Amino acid sequence: MSAPAGRLVAVVEDEDTIREAMCYALKREGHQTEAFGDGADAWNAFARALPDLAVLDIGLPRLDGLELCRRLRARSDTLPIIFVTSREEEFDRVLGLEIGADDYLCKPFSMRELMARVKVLLRRSALLQDAARAPEDAATTVGDLSMDPLRLIVTWKGARVPLTVTEFLLLQALARRPGVVKTRDQLMEEAYPDRVTVSDRTIDSHVKRIRRKFAAADAAFDAIEGVYGAGYRYVVPAT
Ligand code: CA
Repeated sequence: MSAPAGRLVAVVEDEDTIREAMCYALKREGHQTEAFGDGADAWNAFARALPDLAVLDIGLPRLDGLELCRRLRARSDTLPIIFVTSREEEFDRVLGLEIGADDYLCKPFSMRELMARVKVLLRRSALLQDAARAPEDAATTVGDLSMDPLRLIVTWKGARVPLTVTEFLLLQALARRPGVVKTRDQLMEEAYPDRVTVSDRTIDSHVKRIRRKFAAADAAFDAIEGVYGAGYRYVVPAT
């Protein structure tokens, strides 16, 4: 299946050359773009209409990328958000914050790398919105967990748990095979179907965020087990 083209991608970046390069590359892929050089202008526009995907720099005038991400996430659990960061330290800091971005790229990155991630995230949200579903996309219930891939709704003991698309796919990969250990590479393949490579730490960071979100709904949540040296598995308690 090809990636949906012609989607509206917002680029919020105050460095003119990088912003222009990103918009140029996106347009070449057939997307529409809206570009903003500061966070406040971007938020004013997003308040009127959300884009299909947002690429956010972190250091921005007037309203930084982190706050912009928080505000966007408060309005939509599923909008794909990619952070671009300028320094490794900044990258570390962002991974430590759990603000619900779907992906992170550290500058300098290639436009090819950015396009690959945009493509995966847009395709994923299109698949998840598509009503004509293959059987494997039917709702899954495993013990207290229920996952609806069409509506991206996850509930735990009946309570809604808001997950990003990436978090949803990772959890789904684990919950579909309870008790089976999935390596970080396998999880990466399922959550990033276009063979885009992310670091093990990115997977760990996603898992950490998933656990934290479930813990907010149920402090006793411990269904995702880390297996030292191997990966993760979904555990359903014996009844
Ligand atoms: Ca900047």
